[in-house]
Amino acid sequence: MQTNRRNWLKQISIAAAGVTIAPLKNFALLPNKQLPQRFDKMPIRLSSNENPYGPSALALHAIKENGDVTNRYNWQLTSELIDAIAQKNKVGADNILMGAGSTEILDLVVRHSALKKGNFIVADPTYNYWCNTAETLGLKKILVPLNTNKQHNLFAMLNAINTNTRLIYLCNPNNPTGTICDRNELVNFVEKAAAKTLVLIDEAYIDFTNQESLSGLVLKNKNIIIAKTFSKVYGLAGARVGYAVAHTQTIEKLSTLQSWVNGSVSVPSVAGALAAIKDDDFVKEVYKLNVQVKKYTIEQLELLQIKCVSSYSNFIYFSLVNYNKDFFEQLKKANIIGTKIYEEKGKWSRITVGTMQEMQAFIEALK
Ligand code: PLP
Repeated sequence: MQTNRRNWLKQISIAAAGVTIAPLKNFALLPNKQLPQRFDKMPIRLSSNENPYGPSALALHAIKENGDVTNRYNWQLTSELIDAIAQKNKVGADNILMGAGSTEILDLVVRHSALKKGNFIVADPTYNYWCNTAETLGLKKILVPLNTNKQHNLFAMLNAINTNTRLIYLCNPNNPTGTICDRNELVNFVEKAAAKTLVLIDEAYIDFTNQESLSGLVLKNKNIIIAKTFSKVYGLAGARVGYAVAHTQTIEKLSTLQSWVNGSVSVPSVAGALAAIKDDDFVKEVYKLNVQVKKYTIEQLELLQIKCVSSYSNFIYFSLVNYNKDFFEQLKKANIIGTKIYEEKGKWSRITVGTMQEMQAFIEALK
């Protein structure tokens, strides 16, 4: 079952009924830190693929320090962040456009694509919160089901392109399934698709893989846009920092739809992102912990006859077909917020990989 963000938020509140929605403070927690006692009763939130360890101490320090100067705009700091992002992605500063989370980037791309009526192509299931906007703006949705291994069917997606296609979106690794495309196949796909239409690759979770970003491809191709975010591995979801990597001329076109170009991210958030992007140790630690905790969770789920898809991300996709209890009821009793059922056929659902302690509580809840 696909749903939109409004329904999803409603489902989360239903799941959390009877418990107060947690202030998010308790999620900025390194594994060796204890929660202050007043957070003990807060729900464990395994719904939104957030980083349970972040933000990093360096990012947090920068955010707090820059809170003192929020009476001022700070274009200089944004330029510094853009330079750091450009360097990380091995492109120029003119190839970057900042947004309030990658959500704003997806929104800009959709609005740009919809300037001319037509259709857009998207896998099913995938990250689809932007699709409503695309449809509202008059683009017709063409859904291409994932294959039986829950991977993108690149061949079918290419075949779905027609002369009216304005945009093709691909999330790699895919949310909600955690599957990844083979890089060579993906490059081949992107080059073929971009010869016909605009291609948007969403790399929100690429940092949880060993795969190289496709950002380098944009330098020679105006039809490729890569969306990235600080919300996941950097643990800055609430700070709202994302960006697009694209050809200079494509960035210019997207910029015409952003009233204040590069202006949506607040000063503390820019400062936090600038510190975070330099904090390689934190990223390595998050990556390592995610691998460990994910492995534990998958092994335990399989012992409960819950079949999991191999995950290249910080969440796990699994089938509840052989699970005899009411999954969401079990979570509710344990004060855990999970996420919606994505596919009713096969009862596939998703859980975020939290800390080891959180996942132990999750597994206990299911027993
Ligand atoms: N893309 C994907 C695949 C996501 O899963 C999310 C959020 O969960 C986003 C984009 C939006 O993230 P943000 O706006 O926080 O960057």
